[in-house]
Amino acid sequence: MDQSSDKATFELKQNETIDPSTLQDDEILVKSLYISNDPAQLFWIYSPFGGDYGARLPVGSDITARGIGKVVESKSSKYQKDDIVYTVINWSEYAKVNVKTQLNFPINTSQFPVDKIPLDYQLSVFGITSITAWLGYFKVANIDPAKDTGKTFLVTGAAGAVGSVAVQIASKVLKAKKVYAIAGGEEKIKYVESIGDNVVGIDYKDKNFKENFKKAVGEEKINYFFDNVGGDILEYSLQFLGIHAVVIICGAISTYKDTKPKPFYGLPLIVSKRLKLEGFVVGDYASEFAEIREQLLQWYNEGHLPSLSTVVDARGDKFDKVPAAWDGLFHGSNKGKLITQVGDA
Ligand code: NAP
Repeated sequence: MDQSSDKATFELKQNETIDPSTLQDDEILVKSLYISNDPAQLFWIYSPFGGDYGARLPVGSDITARGIGKVVESKSSKYQKDDIVYTVINWSEYAKVNVKTQLNFPINTSQFPVDKIPLDYQLSVFGITSITAWLGYFKVANIDPAKDTGKTFLVTGAAGAVGSVAVQIASKVLKAKKVYAIAGGEEKIKYVESIGDNVVGIDYKDKNFKENFKKAVGEEKINYFFDNVGGDILEYSLQFLGIHAVVIICGAISTYKDTKPKPFYGLPLIVSKRLKLEGFVVGDYASEFAEIREQLLQWYNEGHLPSLSTVVDARGDKFDKVPAAWDGLFHGSNKGKLITQVGDA
């Protein structure tokens, strides 16, 4: 990623100031506070294999991003000035949002009091990536928390935003017998092992990864595989799954920069082990977000889900750090949710 030469991917632009008096009905003007960094943004910028994951942005567009902002002016009955909102704020300091057509929900400050729960937690422990982890287990895999305790889990991308919550829910809420947690590098292995009980970290960057993985799992049969990375790790992992295991296909970050499709040799194992693999997209469940956030709040209050995040400061004249901060997702710069702060409430 290059920001300084003729071949630059991103350029910092001064757009025309948005005049609040030009807001139409159902529009709000939002001041950006915390930008959510998401691998899916790569599909909007570039990626031949994104499918239906959002429309590709024309060259020269503002980069689409979601995040937390403060309402500066409102022509919507849903929001008042100074309300806090989760919505599409883009990589920009201010954004005009149509609340009828763009994803948004209010942050209820009596439910999430800002003096006790910092605003950036709305992107980490209570954010879309935690909701994604919840959906993977309870909608896709149909896990019943009352019955499905003591099972064996495998989580890839385990130190990241979705993965770290998937590890914690498996370990602390579902009282897993074991959680195999794959992440890159010694420091991240220590980290994943520190966020839950019965967590065994496996370093995919170690040159003996495959051997170590085999040794760690031994005779154990994995019941649920929460996959965030796809590619070779997904394929290699299938051999460790038990009969009728469920594979939650949440993401495939290891493949998002591929320029050519790669073969997938896992099909015979999917048949012989009678595996169920299912993909899903969090946005399809927007009507359930409020209820899921309540459940996350309960687990947070019970101490099961602390906020895990890496926050980059890009306020004021540091705003040009925004693209490089996002690119960190593809180089493992983050533990927990990767957030960029661009403003103060
Ligand atoms: P994240 O895991 O916080 O950040 C990405 C992490 O991926 C990095 O920190 C890095 O950790 C790891 N990574 C990067 N390149 C890798 C590679 N080649 N092989 C293995 N690991 C690699 O990001 P996130 O927001 O939580 O997203 C995780 C996955 O969930 C992504 O695939 C994303 O597309 C998906 N997702 C899906 C939905 C949905 O609706 N289905 C919603 C949100 C996210 P290491 O240092 O360990 O390499």
